[in-house]
Amino acid sequence: MIAHLILTVQQVQEMIDHVNSHAPLEACGLLAGKNDRVERVLFVQNQAQSPVRFVMDPIEQLKAFDWIDDNGLDLLSIFHSHPAGPETVSPTDIAEAAYDVVHIICSQKDDQWKLRGFWIENHISTEVTLKIIE
Ligand SMILES: [Zn+2]
Repeated sequence: MIAHLILTVQQVQEMIDHVNSHAPLEACGLLAGKNDRVERVLFVQNQAQSPVRFVMDPIEQLKAFDWIDDNGLDLLSIFHSHPAGPETVSPTDIAEAAYDVVHIICSQKDDQWKLRGFWIENHISTEVTLKIIE
């Protein structure tokens, strides 16, 4: 697991704009970068079109993976929103976690979005610090 992930204020804003524009449905995407540093936010359609579930569109997901490879980056994180909470990964998120990456939840409460990161291993989630820099 990694201890923290570094994102810029602008990348966080891109993620919030994306999930906010899809609320009350869940929205999702990927973060690509190197080591602990995010370099690019990629959006993927939520095929489930649901307020409580997300399933990444498989074709868009493959295209995003190709883009990440072509640009010499690594998949660092998968993010999705919980427009009506909770702030943490759900039991379903833990059960369905398929990649060794940071799982970021963008949750909304009182019109404010909050981001928290988690590492999921052996069906246990551990919080990962998200360092937001200018
Ligand atoms: Zn979830």
